[in-house]
Amino acid sequence: MRPSVIISKLVFFSLIISFCLDCKLLGQERSSANNDYVAIDNHVHYMSPENWQALDSEDLLEHRPINTEVVFEHMQNTPIKRVVALSSGYRFNNSKEKMMHENNFVANEANRYPGKVIPFCGVPMRPDWALGEIVRCMKDLNMEGLKIHPTASGVYGEDFDKKNTIVLFDDIYALINSLQIKLKRPIPILVDTNWWPPGEKSYEKMFAFVKKYPEVPTIWAHALSFDWEDGLTKLATEIKEFPQLYKNLLIDLSAIPVMLFNKDIVLTDAITAPAINPEKFVMLLRKVGIEKFVFGSDFPFISAQETLDVLEQYPFTQKELSQIINNNYYRIKTPSVLRSGCLNAASRLLKG
Ligand SMILES: [Zn+2]
Repeated sequence: MRPSVIISKLVFFSLIISFCLDCKLLGQERSSANNDYVAIDNHVHYMSPENWQALDSEDLLEHRPINTEVVFEHMQNTPIKRVVALSSGYRFNNSKEKMMHENNFVANEANRYPGKVIPFCGVPMRPDWALGEIVRCMKDLNMEGLKIHPTASGVYGEDFDKKNTIVLFDDIYALINSLQIKLKRPIPILVDTNWWPPGEKSYEKMFAFVKKYPEVPTIWAHALSFDWEDGLTKLATEIKEFPQLYKNLLIDLSAIPVMLFNKDIVLTDAITAPAINPEKFVMLLRKVGIEKFVFGSDFPFISAQETLDVLEQYPFTQKELSQIINNNYYRIKTPSVLRSGCLNAASRLLKG
């Protein structure tokens, strides 16, 4: 079925759920003080009070604006001490001002809670002003990473092959690649994988960008979403063949492993997202490598506690579960191009 047909059928469902699922990572950062890990929820959505009030309520899943106080109030009984705060800027395809407001809001939250809030910039993928906003986020607002959401930006698998239709995907990666060198720090890209129609293998298009820009840390959200089984199977083969090109790739376990845990989700009359078989899922994660997976909740749509509760029902060993909760992009945060003598060589290459 053509993605456009599915899109129209799913539009209502998408509005309700897509943003729930768009991105989430949970992990932990090594504490310089004692070498212990501090748990991180790698996928938490923020929303400013101003845009929350201005948006049509039909477009909103949040029952209230989401700031740091709200986030940590819901994490009181969990081991999580830090969050990756995802700007809702990517949701504003038609308003540069609202997008910028969301990025300013999240950057300010990180300033209010230094060390607790890891700010990720959000931009829609089609407007030509997205690239300028990425530069502003990283240089002026000092944000740590970027969140993009292809289907929320109207980007589907078939679009990747059309030149001039989707220039921004490659442009975004190229820009981040050069910003990492200019700013001398890693800038991870969190890419939502949700709502690509199941069975169309849109995720395969993403493999190309990871391999073309192996120095850009990439985090795929939602365990490859509805195509988890096929996608993770292919990924395991890819990683075996090109381990160096996938060295900076992580996958977050937000939303999908919770929503599909032993339960189908009916998307339309014709399409059902099949339940996740827990044994098969864990087996596939082991094939890919447990070290590639990180924890995320997708708050406020699914809580960290709920995610932890469901993950504990999968047949992971305690060691594996602990590893997943300890994994995060800080493990891979220093791209090799920024290490030692590589930097000068890379700068020369860029200038050339
Ligand atoms: Zn999300």
